[in-house]
Amino acid sequence: MEKDASDPDPSRQRNGLVGVLYGEFTDTLNDRVRYSVSLTESALTVQRISSSPDRTKMVFNLTDCVGCRAHRGPDSADVGAYFTAYFYPFKRRWMSAGVTRQRVEQCFRVALLQDPLVNLQEAERWAHAIRDASALQAPRRDGMMYTEVRRPCRTMILVNPQSGRGQALQLFTGHIQGLLTEASVPYELVITERPNHARELVRKADLSQWDALVIMSGDGLLFEVINGLMDREDWQDAIQTPLGILPGGSGNALAASVHHYSQSPPAWNEELLLSCGFMLCKGLVGSLDLVSIHLASRQRLFSFLSLAWGFVADVDIESEKYRHVGAIRFLMGTLVRLASLRVYQGRLAYLPVKEAPKLPKGSIKANHPPPTPQHPSLCSSLPCRLVPNASPKPNQSSCRSCISTNSNHNTITNSSNSVVDNNRPETQSDSKTAAPVDALLPGLDQPVPESWTVVQEEDFVLVLAIYQSHLAEDLWTAPGAMADDGVIHLFYVTAGISRPALLRLFLAMEKGAHLACDCPHLVYEKVRALRLEPISPQGMITVDGEMVEYGPVQAQIHPGLARLICG
Ligand code: ADP
Ligand code: MG
Repeated sequence: MEKDASDPDPSRQRNGLVGVLYGEFTDTLNDRVRYSVSLTESALTVQRISSSPDRTKMVFNLTDCVGCRAHRGPDSADVGAYFTAYFYPFKRRWMSAGVTRQRVEQCFRVALLQDPLVNLQEAERWAHAIRDASALQAPRRDGMMYTEVRRPCRTMILVNPQSGRGQALQLFTGHIQGLLTEASVPYELVITERPNHARELVRKADLSQWDALVIMSGDGLLFEVINGLMDREDWQDAIQTPLGILPGGSGNALAASVHHYSQSPPAWNEELLLSCGFMLCKGLVGSLDLVSIHLASRQRLFSFLSLAWGFVADVDIESEKYRHVGAIRFLMGTLVRLASLRVYQGRLAYLPVKEAPKLPKGSIKANHPPPTPQHPSLCSSLPCRLVPNASPKPNQSSCRSCISTNSNHNTITNSSNSVVDNNRPETQSDSKTAAPVDALLPGLDQPVPESWTVVQEEDFVLVLAIYQSHLAEDLWTAPGAMADDGVIHLFYVTAGISRPALLRLFLAMEKGAHLACDCPHLVYEKVRALRLEPISPQGMITVDGEMVEYGPVQAQIHPGLARLICG
């Protein structure tokens, strides 16, 4: 007979199992095998009741549990009822190294009395208690602030059937559908019919009907959804809708980043999909920075991932034709583009996250070794990478690549008369324009403010502004980046880099080790805003992997403007 945890049982107290519920149930296949089952705030513990000395305890952590349901058995003559709990703990991969989340189901038969209704009520009581306890136990990252999705989480899932290898729908059916059912997540599947379909749908949707908007595709579909939300008059509320990502495309950078933020062991393909599905079921919500991007045509876009020009943008777009191979298309594109490496002329300026420490005049002389940055190529405290033996020009810092004083060198000049107040909060709302104000940005036709750094180099192989950790499933581009760090991680590679050196950078990026390559052509800056003015008449610019018009472009961060389901 089942006992309730409210009856104190000294033996269980000794075992530290005082908790929510305690009961004894039978095996689903064999009535004679009985288990003692106890539920505490953090775990479900199962032990076979037997006279043999082997009384191994199985402990299931509720952080790994997505749900539990009560049900009758398949045989209508069976008076017993059942409850089944669904766990996705990390387990060793079959035939390979490492661990990954794998499904484990625990089912018990309740046969308290001969009355099937009473048994079902008891099974429901357990299922309810396990669900409630699991909802409170989600894998949280230290130092992160989370809220939770409303439950039940009414979810719109937008699937792009053309994304990746054209298998997003099959991947959903095979790996996610069952998981959502186990987690009792009510959802509606919307299959996109064409580019911009998702954007139009989200722009007009009655958002009071939805607690989360989830995309099953690559990054391109989320870009549509975010811009659809920002197109709305009620954008301020709309962009607060929790967003989720299920990787089904060939470019799954946000999914890889979210997985990385959860501090889980590395995962790819279906394992990454399962990890993101698991996070969706757990329903923890964090903040997501967005970047506002202005194009020459006065169009404004909102971006959650990247702004790229040169090599990265070329690879992204040119590798579209290999999309049938999936995520490996980027590696193929990289090799092809390396073979005919291009240099692009343009001007780059940015607002650093921190003002450079004011060095006393003349403290760095050409014949003195410059101070060594803590990281060989990462200079968080300096406005740019200091290049040994570079001769500083008058009125310039000792950096070969950039200047942070006035310069007439190009049309990106600093202006002391700028109307832009860099001390204003980055996100303000303007009820008339119904869009957030980009307080850090002057007009594209105005000089950049004095506080900005103007890069002196004009010959680039690539410029990449990224605001998530991963640029692709296997490119850990901004190792320190977080979804809501309020930082644009700006990388650029100047001309003169050899093909092998560039390849080395991309290979090292797989492990996030490219900054340790000590490549003098790679510069990394943490910035809040930037401007890029291509001079080369032809080229490609991408935002979140999608091609946008080619020409001058500027961007600023809006910390934590959106909300993201993560863990
Ligand atoms: P991938 O990572 O495979 O590129 P994305 O999610 O980035 O996948 O989508 C690629 C492009 O497909 C995006 O530009 C998106 O707007 C577009 N798109 C969305 N739905 C459809 C559809 N039904 N048919 C064709 N293209 C679509
Ligand atoms: Mg894409």
